[in-house]
Amino acid sequence: MKKNNFYTLFTALLFSVALPTSVSAKNQPDCSIQQYQMALKYQQGSPEIQALQQQSYALATLRIQQYLAQHPHPEKPLAVVTDLDETVLDNSALLARDTLACHDWSSWDTWSAWEKGGTPTLIAGSLDFFNFLNDQGIKIFYISDRSDENKNATLATLKQLKLPQVNADQVLLLGPKKPQRRDSVTAQGYQTIMLLGDSLPDFSSDFNSKQTKAEGLAAVEKNKAHFGTDWIVLPNASYGSWHKNTLKTWQTP
Ligand SMILES: [Mg+2]
Repeated sequence: MKKNNFYTLFTALLFSVALPTSVSAKNQPDCSIQQYQMALKYQQGSPEIQALQQQSYALATLRIQQYLAQHPHPEKPLAVVTDLDETVLDNSALLARDTLACHDWSSWDTWSAWEKGGTPTLIAGSLDFFNFLNDQGIKIFYISDRSDENKNATLATLKQLKLPQVNADQVLLLGPKKPQRRDSVTAQGYQTIMLLGDSLPDFSSDFNSKQTKAEGLAAVEKNKAHFGTDWIVLPNASYGSWHKNTLKTWQTP
C-alpha cells in the first residue's frame, strides 16, 4: 500500500471511530454537484447507452437506405445534418472530471478549454454511419453550437477521429442560430433528408431551451411523425434544458 493511501485509510478510520455520524457528515465538503454522477455513469459507456447509440445509428442507416430506394433519381443533391456533442462526440470525460472535482460545470466555464485541447471519443455507431453517407455521395453538414472562435480546434478533433467530409464549409458553428444554419444548407441547393441530434432544438425551431415542459411535450406530439423517420434522437442523460423540471411523486391515498 502506498504511503498516501495508508494515511488516507488511517484518517478515515480515526474519524469513523471518533466522531458520531452527524458530525462526520457535517465535515464532508458541500458537493451537491456530485448528484450528477448517476447520469454520467449511465452516459459514459454503459452497455445500455452503447446499445441505444448503436440502435439509433442502425435505424438512421435503414431510413437512408429506404429513402434512396424510393428516390433513385433525386432532383437535388442530398444532405444530412447532424449535431456534434453527444450525437457524434462523447464529452463525458470532461463532465466526469469536473463532477469528481466538485466543480459545477453547468455554466460551461471549462468547455472552451475542452474544445481547444479536449479528447472526446466517438459515439458508438456514428463513424460507420457517416462513412456510409459518404460512400452514398450524400453531403454531411455538422451543425453544432461549439464556438466559431475555436473552429480550427474542432476541425482538428473531427479529422483526428477520421470523420468524413470535415472541412470549414461543412462544419457550421455558432454563429448564427441553428435554424438559420439549417436554412443555409437548403439555400445552397441541397435537400436535407435527415437530422440527427441529442437535443430537440437540433431538429426544429418548434423546440427551444426556454419553453416549459408542457410546451416541449406539445411540440414532440406535433412532430411525432418525424421521430425515427427523418429525425433520429441520440440519448443524453447528462445535460439538457430538462434539468430544471420538478419530479412528480406518487401521492399515497
Ligand atoms: Mg448535442
